[in-house]
Parts: sequence; structure tokens; C-alpha cells
Amino acid sequence: MVKVYYDQDINSEVLQGKKVTIVGYGSQGHAHAQNLRDSGYEVVIGLREGKSAERAKEDGFEVKAVAEAVKDADVTMVLLPDENQPQVYVESIKENMKPNSALAFAHGFNIHFSQVVPREDVDVFLVAPKGPGHLVRRTYEEEAGVPALFGVYQDVTGKAADIAKAYAAGVGAARAGVLETSFQEETETDLFGEQAVLCGGVTSLVKSGFETLTEAGYQPEVAYFECLHELKLIVDLMYEGGLENMRYSISDTAQWGDFVSGPRVVNDETKARMKEVLTDIQDGTFAKGWILENQANRPQFNAINAAEYKHPITQVGKDLRALMPFVGESVNK
Ligand code: NDP
Ligand code: MG
Ligand code: MG
Repeated sequence: MVKVYYDQDINSEVLQGKKVTIVGYGSQGHAHAQNLRDSGYEVVIGLREGKSAERAKEDGFEVKAVAEAVKDADVTMVLLPDENQPQVYVESIKENMKPNSALAFAHGFNIHFSQVVPREDVDVFLVAPKGPGHLVRRTYEEEAGVPALFGVYQDVTGKAADIAKAYAAGVGAARAGVLETSFQEETETDLFGEQAVLCGGVTSLVKSGFETLTEAGYQPEVAYFECLHELKLIVDLMYEGGLENMRYSISDTAQWGDFVSGPRVVNDETKARMKEVLTDIQDGTFAKGWILENQANRPQFNAINAAEYKHPITQVGKDLRALMPFVGESVNK
């Protein structure tokens, strides 16, 4: 089995006393910054003026313009949206980094697809938490953690892997497990996971189930509870103990239905489509489409987003959640 690193396996000395600059203070940024600070590191935030900068100041951080913030940093972690990283890198980061310092990412996209070409005199590594930023922070506060991958693209100091592992431990990931990867593997598996399973796969499955029930005349509220709300309870059981724990908890009738009907819905045809999705990721087709979509100011992204917002599942969900105060939004944007 692959080596999984935990706190006791990681020597954090390489990062002690070093200055860490976090560029961006969004989902991942606020979590890395606050967790590293609580782990004893000196953290500065690099940002433009705006909402995030205000929030970072309120949270007690020193906030500087990106170009200033990276100047004396030993580690510069870039936590901007992937599509903004190339421009900010060229304009504010590239020429301002110290030689032999480290340029770090939480996702390999821009390095792997050559949108950011790093200087040759810096370490380049990634620490990619396998979970949303708000959970990276919340679990840290609960003395738990979200697992992370680390990988090294460029090692000029000979210490890049050790710094990456220490950084991962600093954000709390080594409580859950830290695995070594490459930029290529992290990028391709992360894109595949979010497209085919975690985000794209699940939203399409939920919507198709909801539509099938409502088109057959069942009440939308019942369909919402059945196909969306209850999903969390099922996923929690899988998270805690795998598919077998979920199947142990559900009724035997549900388990029989799982066995005979699951493979009729997600079948060989679906898997063939998954392979196409993976091929598009591997050969750069997906990356090219997303980069061009951004250069065109996202016409298709915005159109689909607006149409999705009008889907009946959105409206019925809003009404039902308003009646369940304990459900509340966990992401404060
Ligand atoms: P967010 O969109 O949540 O945050 C982006 C931050 O960047 C905001 O603070 C924003 O500030 C700032 N920003 C945007 N544009 C600029 C700019 N031109 N100059 C300066 N600051 C800017 O990003 P995420 O946390 O989602 O993503 C960050 C990275 O982490 C990405 O590489 C992503 O792939 C990776 N990642 C994300 C995960 C997640 O949970 N979301 C999971 C694992 C990896 P402002 O308020 O001013 O707009
Ligand atoms: Mg991911
Ligand atoms: Mg991702």
C-alpha cells in the first residue's frame, strides 16, 4: 500500500520560523491561513482590496498587496481561483519571489497545463486537501482533519518534499493522512472526481431522480426529501464505514434494490461516458475549453448557471430548508 504520512511521521523543522504568504482568502485561503496560524506559523495574506481583504483583516491577519506579500515569503501558497492564477502570477508574484523560496498550490491545474510557468530558482509543490475549505477549517477546530495529497514539481533546495509535508501537517491534514502524488495525477484525478462523481455525477443523478418522480405525478416535496435531502444521511454512513456500513444500516429491502437496480441506472454505458470524460481531461480538451470559456467571459457557464437556478428542485429546496432551521447554510459567502 502507498505510504500514508501522519503527524508522527512528519518532521516540521524545515518550516519552523519560516514566513508563509497565502495569496487569496476564499474557501481554501481562509482555512490554510487560520490553521497554519493556529499551528504556530507566521502567516501574511496577499490580496487585492475587496471583500476577502476585509474579512482577513477582521480575522486578525496582516494583509498586503500580492506583490508586497510575496517579497519576503519563504512559502507562497497561491489560493486564487484557478482561472485567475496565471495573470496574478505574471503581474505580481513571479518577479517578487525570493530565490530558493517555494511556490505552492492546492491544485495542479495551472502547472500541469502550463498556464503558470514557474521560475527555475524556486521549489514548486502542491498540498491539495481532499475536501472543501470550510471543512478544512471546521475539522481542524474539532481536532480532526481533511486528508491531503502533496506533490513536488520542482526541487531546487532538496527540501521541497519535506516542506510540503510540514505544510500539510500545519493545515491539519496529517491528522487524517497525507499521500504523495504528482501534479499530473492530482490534477487529472481531481478533475475526474469532481466531474464524474462528486459534483457532476451526483447533481445529475439527483436531478434525474427528482424529475422521474415529479414527472410521474409525485409531490415535489416528497421527491426532494427522497432524492436530495436524504443523500447526506446515506453519504455520512459511507464516510464513516464505507459502502458496507451504509448497506448494514439500511433495510434489506433497500439493499436488495441497491443490488438489482443500481447497476441498471449507472451501467456499462455510464462507465464508457466516464472514460470519455477522463480522456478529455488527460488530453487537455477539458482544460482548453475552460480556459477559452474564461477568456470569453463565461457565456456558457453563465447561461447554464441561470438555467440550473430555475430548476424546480432549487425552488422546492429553498422552501423546505426555510422550514428546517437546523439545516442552515454552512458556507458563509
Ligand atoms: P475562492 O474562489 O474561494 O477564493 C479566491 C480568493 O482569491 C478570494 O479571496 C478572492 O478575493 C481572491 N482573488 C480572486 N481574484 C484575485 C485577484 N485577481 N487578485 C487577488 N486576489 C484575488 O477559491 P478556492 O479557495 O475555491 O480555490 C483556491 C485554490 O484551491 C484553487 O486552486 C482550487 O482549485 C483549490 N482547491 C479548492 C478547493 C475548495 O474547497 N474550494 C478544494 C481543493 C483545492 P476577492 O474577495 O477579492 O475576490
Ligand atoms: Mg477536489
Ligand atoms: Mg478541484
